[in-house]
Amino acid sequence: MREILHVQGGQCGNQIGSKFWEVICDEHGIDPTGKFTGDLASDIQLERINVYYNEASGGRYVPRAVLMDLEPGTMDSIRSSPYGKIFRPDNFVFGQSGAGNNWAKGHYTEGAELIDSVLDVVRKEAENCDCLQGFQVCHSLGGGTGSGMGTLLISKIREEYPDRMMLTFSVFPSPKVSDTVVEPYNATLSVHQLVENGDECMVLDNEALYDICFRTLKLTTPSFGDLNHLISATMSGVTCCLRFPGQLNSDLRKLAVNLIPFPRLHFFMVGFAPLTSRGSQQYASLTVPELTQQMWDAKNMMCAADPRHGRYLTASAMFRGKMSTKEVDEQMINVQNKNSSYFVEWIPNNVKSSVCDIPPRNLKMSSTFIGNSTSIQEMFRRVSEQFTAMYRRKAFLHWYTGEGMDEMEFTEAESNMNDLVAEYQQYQDATVDEDDYEDGEGEEDPNFE
Ligand code: GDP
Repeated sequence: MREILHVQGGQCGNQIGSKFWEVICDEHGIDPTGKFTGDLASDIQLERINVYYNEASGGRYVPRAVLMDLEPGTMDSIRSSPYGKIFRPDNFVFGQSGAGNNWAKGHYTEGAELIDSVLDVVRKEAENCDCLQGFQVCHSLGGGTGSGMGTLLISKIREEYPDRMMLTFSVFPSPKVSDTVVEPYNATLSVHQLVENGDECMVLDNEALYDICFRTLKLTTPSFGDLNHLISATMSGVTCCLRFPGQLNSDLRKLAVNLIPFPRLHFFMVGFAPLTSRGSQQYASLTVPELTQQMWDAKNMMCAADPRHGRYLTASAMFRGKMSTKEVDEQMINVQNKNSSYFVEWIPNNVKSSVCDIPPRNLKMSSTFIGNSTSIQEMFRRVSEQFTAMYRRKAFLHWYTGEGMDEMEFTEAESNMNDLVAEYQQYQDATVDEDDYEDGEGEEDPNFE
């Protein structure tokens, strides 16, 4: 058994986290009371149930989930939602003060006061595991709690469990969706932490989610519910290989080994096909070539960056539903052959794919894409520009220094994110160079003496 411990923090983290549990409970046949009501004839739903669930007395399945927040509101509404009773009541840890969209409050003051109670619950869950593979954290980067306290928790967990994997589902802020001006500060301070203390980060960019809702799904005023529908479909797809039997990326470490050629470059673009809107009952049905074409399309990426402006270091695809593995392999090879310049040639076989029999609800087939693309720097550049515009004038800094933060941390966070952008650029430009010929194999470079 290789368990994963899930933590969700802040308003956004709790919203997307509880949606995730609703979706996977449905896929694994777990009802709102924790009872298995799935298909007893096949054990595919239960075979790896222990990755995400504990088994309680009476044969109930309980999410291995910890919910934290600095205010009670969001957690109250989760508790009274259809799946609210499935969570272990002791695992709700919350304060009353709020973080006021201030990263410093989440990381250094209010959040720091509550963090030990969260760690107690985390420790208790970890001790109950047979062989914990790692953690997954759901949070937004633009606010105060998920962002500041979320990254505090991540660093504390890293300290206590240095050899376990840390996966995050991180929602990046966009002015299209939010009207809090300090979000670029909170996001940059968080990225600074995630570069060092996260192992793999699934980027969920509100800018892209908004664009998908508006342009593709034709929703004129997308709500968080609409955005979160895309997020939960993606989270279900990304974790499918961890939850169901299969070979490819079957645990967090294997996923990391396949996708991360350099440790700092662990921010992934994720894509999903077919895109559907919340509540749409149409039974979208696509062929394998259509799914493949869409999943590689910039319009289907949950991150506002165009893969054609960069190159793929690595990528992974998970198809779901009944289909021919041979056709999937052919289609994937086809994409790579036709677009070879968009894949770095110095990592051979850098695209992997697999098929899982169980499709998501309301779809016959779907595919989820995870790419490590150098073009993701476009998103970091966007946040960095917004950060620098304000930081140059030291606007709003007093909210942070008032909580005891040093300006130095802002400067360091800014350079760390700029360095990250430069590293993506460096590998985007890297080609097979002279060094590769030095051992005498291959052709001599005519200009190389
Ligand atoms: P916290 O409670 O202090 O962690 O603050 P929030 O989670 O509200 O953080 C604010 C950021 O999260 C802003 O960028 C919001 O646009 C975004 N956000 C808040 N709620 C949601 C949500 O339910 N879905 C999505 N996609 N984004 C959200």
